[in-house]
Amino acid sequence: MSSKPRFAALAVVASRRPQKTIEDRRPQSERFGEMTFSLKEAQHRLPKEAFKKYRETATSGTPLDTSIAPVVAHAMKEWAIDNGVTHFTHWFQPMTGITAEKHDSFLSYEGAEVIERFNAKELVQGEPDASSFPSGGIRATFEARGYTAWDPATPAFLMPNPNGKTLCIPTAFVSYTGESLDEKTPLLRSIEAVSAAAVRLLKVLGRTDVHRVSCTVGPEQEYFLIDRALYALRPDLVACGRTVFGAPSPKGQELEDQYFGAIKERVMAVMTEVEHKMIGLGTPVKTRHNEVAPGQYECAPIFEIVNRAADHNLILLEAFRKIAARHDLTFLDHEKPFAGINGSGKHNNWSMATDGGENLLEPGHTPAENVQFLLFLAATVRAVHRHGGLLRSSVATAANDHRLGANEAPPAIMSVFLGEELQDVLDQIEKGGAPTGDRRRTMELGVTTIPAIARDTTDRNRTSPFAFTGNKFEFRAVGSSMNISWSNVVINTMVAESLTYVTDQLEAAMKQQKVDAVKAAARVMPKLIAEFKPVVFNGDNYASAWHEEAAKRGLANDRDTPTALKHLLRPETVKMFETYKVLSAKEIESRYTVKLESYCKRVAIEARVAIEMARTGAVPAALSYLKRITAVRAALSSAAAAEPVTDLERVVLDLFTRTQKGVKKLEESLRGAHGASGVAAEAEHFRTVVIPAMLELRAAVDGLEQTIDDDLWPYPKYREMLFHA
Ligand code: ADP
Ligand code: MG
Repeated sequence: MSSKPRFAALAVVASRRPQKTIEDRRPQSERFGEMTFSLKEAQHRLPKEAFKKYRETATSGTPLDTSIAPVVAHAMKEWAIDNGVTHFTHWFQPMTGITAEKHDSFLSYEGAEVIERFNAKELVQGEPDASSFPSGGIRATFEARGYTAWDPATPAFLMPNPNGKTLCIPTAFVSYTGESLDEKTPLLRSIEAVSAAAVRLLKVLGRTDVHRVSCTVGPEQEYFLIDRALYALRPDLVACGRTVFGAPSPKGQELEDQYFGAIKERVMAVMTEVEHKMIGLGTPVKTRHNEVAPGQYECAPIFEIVNRAADHNLILLEAFRKIAARHDLTFLDHEKPFAGINGSGKHNNWSMATDGGENLLEPGHTPAENVQFLLFLAATVRAVHRHGGLLRSSVATAANDHRLGANEAPPAIMSVFLGEELQDVLDQIEKGGAPTGDRRRTMELGVTTIPAIARDTTDRNRTSPFAFTGNKFEFRAVGSSMNISWSNVVINTMVAESLTYVTDQLEAAMKQQKVDAVKAAARVMPKLIAEFKPVVFNGDNYASAWHEEAAKRGLANDRDTPTALKHLLRPETVKMFETYKVLSAKEIESRYTVKLESYCKRVAIEARVAIEMARTGAVPAALSYLKRITAVRAALSSAAAAEPVTDLERVVLDLFTRTQKGVKKLEESLRGAHGASGVAAEAEHFRTVVIPAMLELRAAVDGLEQTIDDDLWPYPKYREMLFHA
């Protein structure tokens, strides 16, 4: 065993130079969406009537009028061929967490002649073989067929490759019996649920001008970049996306010199090329900066309707992977690639907007607007109170378990931050508008205006998993590698449920007491506030006092995935998803199974990599070092002179023995998983037996790394990976 490859890689890294890859200097606004079948392109290529219908569907996400599908397909094909495209693909999101694509060429016979053809059916529906995608038992392989259905909310786009381009058509993926097999289908259903519930509430408030409400999302994306030569020498990063071993770097993030620091040139080259590409693909990427941990960065787009935001985030991740590689860097979107420093998340900024573009979580200027705002706000907070456990489960993965609750991300307790000003408003409403103490402001719904609510950017806010940030909620527990769809399915559906509840209450009060909606709201709001109050917490979410307090308030604190996922099967969860036609009981059960299986598989892969790295890397390195020590000891004349050497030998021998034992124990624990009956028991075994065994082995191996000759250590170290970009 030797460190030769490691040192060679470091030499390569030292010789890297930033690469210039963009010549195009046109303004971003000019290039925006030019790689998509944009509305501009559609207008140019479609007959007037067809364009009007297409635009309606594309902007608001309403179902497509199928009569226009043939002309749209034709126009899209012409546009694609003009751009050098040969193939098209239905681009979809199976429950693997990543995207899937199967390419077809436009090629077709017409009589004896070969032509390019793309018809309405090919645009609207595809039939990939679904047998190898996870379905959680919904679909036996003998009925493997599934189909993909076009979602026009995200414009079709061009994916270039070194030798051409592919036309990508964003689609949903369902089984032939109609069950969802993907992330997008339930998202689309949940969007309909919120829209219907929100429009109904607005109607009761006299807003007959609103016909559709969309959910808007702006996901902030954190990630790491490390040199790919070093990455290639880490089997754990390659197989799991995270390091299963690695002693801490002497310098971590304690100097706080990375956050918002000057961005290194090689990293800038990646960021700018990704942005360039995303602008062409019609994704409004907007901000970039260094994050807290060394080697960690963030980028954020301008918000969009949620299904488009989800698609664009997936395209962004793919762009980062490809482009980073071109700059000899590797993009890591794992939630915790390195122990001991911050992991990566994806802040999901969420709100609701009317078809007129009005943000329903924006505090208004008039009393009537405020009633509306407060009702939408209250419905959202009530939703988190009722379904906090489910919300937590929506971000439950083996990877995210390393991050949540580690003083770098919100804890696993779901609470809502409202901020002092809004809290004060709610307190007064709850008391029925009575003046409170020295604060003279009285709050009477529908009479007073709410004071402008300043954006709260305190540290306490940043520790909250679900924070109101002025005109939207920011859900901060989503993991960096996740498809944002699932969390938004949960948020949308639980908010739809609470909006319905609020509207029912409002209507009942109006009827019983013969009052208008505003007066009825004044009666309903205090009860609502009293109900959801326990979930509101404006303090420091990292403090242990909060964890005790939260337990008293009855809030769930599910620290790991197997525990959190149980919320999926709770009767109130199933009832809610069924009522709002987002998922059937069978679909929920399948998702539960897929998620648990994924947990088990991921931990198993990590354990196997750990065993291999320990046995074939750490152990031989330790033996080589022991051999050197023994030789030195033998050369020394007296026992007294040999004493310090013997000391070192003992330390290394001890670490070596612990490593050997650790490997055996981990292997046994893996074998034990086979004996588990059912996936829940298996997951429990991984959680309680395999993961602790892996941690025990890690302690020994990291000890070796810190003790033995640097020259013998085969794997790139944290101090090397994190600081060389
Ligand atoms: P903050 O400083 O509170 O993080 P920013 O203005 O930087 O807020 O926005 C963070 C993210 O939130 C951006 O992606 C932004 O587009 C998004 N965002 C802003 N308004 C909304 C909204 N109404 N709905 C969804 N996302 C929004
Ligand atoms: Mg933010």
